Amino acid sequence: MFVSDCLNVNEKGHLTIGGADTVDIAEKYGTPVIVYDENQIRKNCRAFVNSINEYYDGKGRVLYASKAFSCLEMCRIANEENMGLDVVSGGEIYTALKAGFPAEKMYFHGNNKSLDEIKYALESGVGRIVIDNPEELQTISELAKTTGITANIYMRIKPGIDAHTHNFIRTGQIDSKFGFALETGEAMECVKLASKAENVNLIGLHCHIGSQIFDIAPFVHAGEVMMKFIADIKNETGIVIEELDLGGGFGIKYLESDKPVKFEDYMDPVSKAVKESAEKYGVPVPFILIEPGRSIAGAEAVTLYTVGAVKKIPDVRTYVSVDGGMTDNPRYILYQSSYTVLCANKADKPRDMTVTVAGKCCESGDLIQENTDIQTVEKGDILAVLSTGAYNYSMASNYNRVPRPAVLMVKDGKARTVINRETYEDMVKNDI
Ligand SMILES: *Cc1c(COP(=O)(O)O)cnc(C)c1O
Repeated sequence: MFVSDCLNVNEKGHLTIGGADTVDIAEKYGTPVIVYDENQIRKNCRAFVNSINEYYDGKGRVLYASKAFSCLEMCRIANEENMGLDVVSGGEIYTALKAGFPAEKMYFHGNNKSLDEIKYALESGVGRIVIDNPEELQTISELAKTTGITANIYMRIKPGIDAHTHNFIRTGQIDSKFGFALETGEAMECVKLASKAENVNLIGLHCHIGSQIFDIAPFVHAGEVMMKFIADIKNETGIVIEELDLGGGFGIKYLESDKPVKFEDYMDPVSKAVKESAEKYGVPVPFILIEPGRSIAGAEAVTLYTVGAVKKIPDVRTYVSVDGGMTDNPRYILYQSSYTVLCANKADKPRDMTVTVAGKCCESGDLIQENTDIQTVEKGDILAVLSTGAYNYSMASNYNRVPRPAVLMVKDGKARTVINRETYEDMVKNDI
């Protein structure tokens, strides 16, 4: 019935997450509120970590892509679960350091890192910097030289793969702001520059072919393409690439009809492809990294809202307005993302009403979902939007000076706050 194992319905007919009653949570903590199941997040982390052990004989590391949902507690959990961290900004590095996350297990991505961010990463001892363009190579080389260190770098490669996903989140093809293309020769050119650059050590390659991918084939193909490039690098320059980061992008369930592949089902064929390619090209099997974000946190949270106005427009549609919207979940307005919506206090009732769920912002496009079936709702009901754990809070804004919601985690049936609800005072704290 549900998109995640963490959800259920109790004897009162209320939706539960991690065994906690969402209606009680809404009453105690107010709405809107985002609620995660910590146990389920940890289960996902372990499934990935175990699959590295199983399919790469432990010679690899799982990085949590912190942009999916970053906060101190989430960084602590990733650390406790023996993961590394994919960071994309100074702010994500800062958050992780504050949480006590070891810098050497951070991998710094991004297509336009600022000088200050690169300095910060080098000074903090961030383990790997993934360069995206030749200018970055030069900047890192110069900065590393002045501080007398050697920076370990990766290069982000465009493997040229169409992963059949939404255009906005498709990043592997040539028309992308991310990385170096293979077919134009720019990637090999930069490898040669890196081999000559001082105080940098080109140790690995990285690719990330897209997001919310349900197919296995693009991942396998990416593994093969990257291994072929590793062989080309060895033949042309003699450099042996020791680490290969294959990115994230594993799809999750937003709708009942979504059919995600099990983690192991990706890892098995991809590991075979990598090992076979290594053998075929006579290069060592690299240390493998993968970077799940959405598949760690996405399906393990719900956002709870209180229903306000219900506007029935005869022969047109019914708008159900809630006390949040694009400010806490901009994914529908950005990519028309699908979500499952339920009435949390009537979760055992049939979904007999087709509605459009709207936010409270002054923007007609501020919708959470259109033409979705839910239980018959009225003002005061609690609405639950499922699978809001990734790219929701992390993409939240203060449009209309709406404070960001609180974020909770449930562990063994008990909820606790991990991010406080913003206050009106917070809305003006940087104003002068
Ligand atoms: C966004 C991103 C990820 C995580 O993607 P998911 O779809 O959330 O798994 C991993 N690596 C890089 C470089 C990314 O940009």
